[in-house]
Amino acid sequence: MIQDIYPSKLNNSFVNCDISDADFLLVFDNEGRILIKDNADELIFLTGKDLDENKAVYLFSIDETRYFLRFGDEAFSKEGFGYYSIRDIRDKDSGYGVFAAFTGYHLWKWYDDNKFCGKCGHHLELDGKERAMRCPECGNIIYPRINPAVIVGVTKGDSLLLTRYRRGYGHNALVAGFTEIGETLEETVAREVMEETGISVKNIRYYKSQPWGMAQDILVGFFCDAEGEGEIHMDENELKYAEWVKREDIELQPNNLSLTNEMMKVFKERIV
Ligand SMILES: [Zn+2]
Repeated sequence: MIQDIYPSKLNNSFVNCDISDADFLLVFDNEGRILIKDNADELIFLTGKDLDENKAVYLFSIDETRYFLRFGDEAFSKEGFGYYSIRDIRDKDSGYGVFAAFTGYHLWKWYDDNKFCGKCGHHLELDGKERAMRCPECGNIIYPRINPAVIVGVTKGDSLLLTRYRRGYGHNALVAGFTEIGETLEETVAREVMEETGISVKNIRYYKSQPWGMAQDILVGFFCDAEGEGEIHMDENELKYAEWVKREDIELQPNNLSLTNEMMKVFKERIV
């Protein structure tokens, strides 16, 4: 999965430090597209020596490699580099580059969404001690936001409930959705499966979790069993496809970046 970068390791502890020429510099445009080298097989980012007069804020490290974010709204370009959406780069094969880009995107999106104080409207400033934005006027502090969401493998004997979304990613998926205020993760599982497919579930059991910066999520994977016949009543506003598919007929996604794909794979290969 995207976060499985062993033997490399992500260090996301906050440190207030300055960028050096050798550090990686992540640059996003106003639409959240990332600046990477054109026509390269792998993801090649800018480095500290490419930084203009804007500030760069430290994001995280992978092993000894430090990643920074350019902090400024003015347009920025570099010859040989172009802006690509996070979806465009998702299937690039580049070790942990996609994980770094997704995680950088998550933080960029949070900084971009939090320029002004929600209480008093004053400009927010970077906090020097922790990963937070601080209002110099009223003292309001805003921390990075991570949205909990579930991915659900609903099984019925030797079949798994596969879906395809009406918008966005075109490959097979599983039922998924955001946790709403006031419910547990298990309740999210039961509600999302019911809303999207009309199926009641039982034996809800945790599988694994995954950070998914593209949607600012922490995804929590569960398997569960359909109650009764498992007759599907699909929500046509959200899905364009929902079917029971036998283990051997499950068609996987093009790579194993996503928790969804791993869950389809372990079911297909009878590991669960
Ligand atoms: Zn304020």
